[in-house]
Amino acid sequence: MAEDNELRYDPSTIEPKWQKRWAADPKLYAAEPASCGKLKYYVLEMLPYPSGQLHMGHVRNYSIGDALARYMWMHGYNVLHPMGWDAFGLPAENAALKNHTPPREWTLNNIAGMKRQFERLGMGFDWATEVTTCMPDYYGWNQWFFLRMHERDLVYRKKSKVNWCPECATVLANEQVIDGCCWRHENTPVEQRDLVQWFFRITAYAQDLLDGLDKLDGWPEKVRTMQRNWIGRSEGTEVDFFLEEAKKKGAAKTRIRVFTTRVDTIFGATSVQLAPQHVLVAEFTAANPDLKVQVEEMIEQQKRAREAGDLGAIEKHGVPTGHFAVNPYNGQRVPIWVANYILADYGTGAIMSVPAHDERDFEFAVKYNLPIVQVIHPEDKTLAVLLPFVSEEGVLLNSGEFDGLTCAEAQAKMQERAIAEKFGGPKVTFRLKDWGVSRQRYWGTPIPMVYCLSHCVGDRPVPVPYDQLPVLLPEQIEITQQGGSPLSRVPEFLNTTCPKCGGPAKRETDTMDTFVDSSWYFYRYPDAKNANAPFDSAVAKYWFPIDQYIGGVEHAILHLIYSRFWTKVMRDLGLIENDEPVRRLFTQGMVIKDGAKMSKSKGNVVSPDEMVARFGADSARLYALFAAPPDRDLDWQEDGVAGVSRFLARVWRLVTKHAPIARAGRGQPADAPSGISLKLLRKLHQSIAKITLDFETRWHFNTCVAAIMELVNDLQAADAQLAAGEVSPAVMHELLHSLVLLLAPFAPYLAAELWEELGGEGTVLRAPWPKSDPGLAKEDELEIPVQVNGKLVTVIRVAADADAKAIEAAALADEKVQSRTTGKTVAKVIVVPAKLVNLVVR
Ligand SMILES: [Zn+2]
Ligand SMILES: [Zn+2]
Repeated sequence: MAEDNELRYDPSTIEPKWQKRWAADPKLYAAEPASCGKLKYYVLEMLPYPSGQLHMGHVRNYSIGDALARYMWMHGYNVLHPMGWDAFGLPAENAALKNHTPPREWTLNNIAGMKRQFERLGMGFDWATEVTTCMPDYYGWNQWFFLRMHERDLVYRKKSKVNWCPECATVLANEQVIDGCCWRHENTPVEQRDLVQWFFRITAYAQDLLDGLDKLDGWPEKVRTMQRNWIGRSEGTEVDFFLEEAKKKGAAKTRIRVFTTRVDTIFGATSVQLAPQHVLVAEFTAANPDLKVQVEEMIEQQKRAREAGDLGAIEKHGVPTGHFAVNPYNGQRVPIWVANYILADYGTGAIMSVPAHDERDFEFAVKYNLPIVQVIHPEDKTLAVLLPFVSEEGVLLNSGEFDGLTCAEAQAKMQERAIAEKFGGPKVTFRLKDWGVSRQRYWGTPIPMVYCLSHCVGDRPVPVPYDQLPVLLPEQIEITQQGGSPLSRVPEFLNTTCPKCGGPAKRETDTMDTFVDSSWYFYRYPDAKNANAPFDSAVAKYWFPIDQYIGGVEHAILHLIYSRFWTKVMRDLGLIENDEPVRRLFTQGMVIKDGAKMSKSKGNVVSPDEMVARFGADSARLYALFAAPPDRDLDWQEDGVAGVSRFLARVWRLVTKHAPIARAGRGQPADAPSGISLKLLRKLHQSIAKITLDFETRWHFNTCVAAIMELVNDLQAADAQLAAGEVSPAVMHELLHSLVLLLAPFAPYLAAELWEELGGEGTVLRAPWPKSDPGLAKEDELEIPVQVNGKLVTVIRVAADADAKAIEAAALADEKVQSRTTGKTVAKVIVVPAKLVNLVVR
């Protein structure tokens, strides 16, 4: 390398220098109060779990958000760009088991280390608003919300089957079960257990959550689809089949309620099928030991299938109970079966089986030789019908008074009759289940409930009074791997007095799911020190909804549904006016290396610290943005980081070398540019236009960085002319000044350094973003490819404003084109202005 050693780009000097200056100026990244009168912009990246080390996925996620925050600052917005810690959760307990560090100490140490990493990376966070969810000043408000929701009947307890990870020794949410195994222990099958659990009644908001999705047009369609499917609304009908024997004996249970989306096929029902756990099945088996054995086997099968995560693939199997039900529409007597594929927790746990019009029922009827009765046929009666005929585009037959109606008409009429005769009616069901929040863990928010030992209010739990919040987590505690909550082994915590009668009582020892913490943390940021309320409503009104939220698509269901639910509850509590938390959502791709997601277990983790030490923070950040469009997976290549680092070195040399001339040109009027000046200014203004458009639309920061690289290439190629003074100081100033501004969102350290070098005023962070001059950006000439019979023959140069006629003439005059048209007929000329000419020649 012929580079002068004195002219060496040295991020290890530049970056710590600026880091120190920025740290001494806490106002730099601080949001101003609402009263500042500026337009607000709330940009947020999902808060990290403080595992102790940032990884490259973090660097990418936060580089995207930081670039956007800086871009918006440069546009004069009042930007809120906060950071915090999702600090509760199991790893702290595991670490405590492993190396006997208390979870709190372990967590706070990790936070301190990661904060240092963030600062070294030059992330523009407002640390004055930092939120740490494991601190009482935060989790106390979780408890406050819990009580407010309890008052509104949005919190309740019930005994339920839970997913139990033997490794975690705790309950998992359905969403935490991946392919039958624990989400944190991918080789540990999840078991089913019965436990009394606390639930949030998220199902009360199912329709609201579904409707809200229609308005979220700033969200990726794939995320909205995933949420729609998760909520899983289905419209149908509930119908009571009568229990035949009940008529004779007047038994307590006289009906079986089934849910169906196809009541129009009910005349084709040839059996009723019950889940093995259905209450009626227990009655039947009481008098039938054989049946009992078979039912128990089915319950086992379901359990095993659930544990294996393939409930849908269960080998379908059923047993007739010997009992009969009566179809309320036609008085038809049908046998009652128990079947292993009917789930107790879906619909009513009972279905009518219509083999002629349902794939699954057809398969079952064939297996057990049950009758198959066709009741729907296509409107065109000449068409042959292959059963099962599952389409709803049809007309009823064999259906008494409903014959000849279309499926839709029949559904409406049948619902009317069910209502009139009081045996059912329309019903909407959701797949969404209530949110089980109890965890048998230590490191989480204590649930603010106590159980009175003298049962002064019966068996109901007694809420902790608001003025006794927060219920503090005891700090010195021995973590063991025994099942159950560690808190039940801490007498000072466990034993308390009943708020109602003052007698002895025991505290609830379960803690809350950590998804509670992340459901509302972003409301706390703008008012993080509030001791009297979770946040001030007026402050929330100014900042919400969040303008841009950035995080991984793996949060499409859990976190992003729970936080929408929380927002709707807070709206109904009168705390906020917005009914969605996030206006625009961006989901970035993963960082992979050697074909796999970076993870400790695969040994392919690249440490940000190492990258920063070798190449500097700017290079690591710029590479994370340059290597792939942000929404795609990024394949980490170390050569790539080195390449980006060399590019930044070129920028540094270029600007440093010509800075004296540029400084002299500050404030000087520019002459009308021509020659090399015009060429470089054109490139500059094209780059500004391109990068600005990308920020405002598709966020392809990789092409933004590429545009800056092209600009730098052109400037370097003109080095001799620049050195010879062919470019005036005023133009030089504009070129270098704008280059630094364009670089500022992506490589803040280098931008700050060069800004100072150019004599820029104040901080580059608040310097206005450059504006593209369309007159300067416009090309004089355009290159247009010419095809003959679809084959590329040549590229012609025409004036940028040439019309179709002029372009056609230029194409026909081209030598290469003429060599292919001489002696032939040009049958057609297609001109796509500024893009393409295509000649059809015969
Ligand atoms: Zn587990
Ligand atoms: Zn009591």
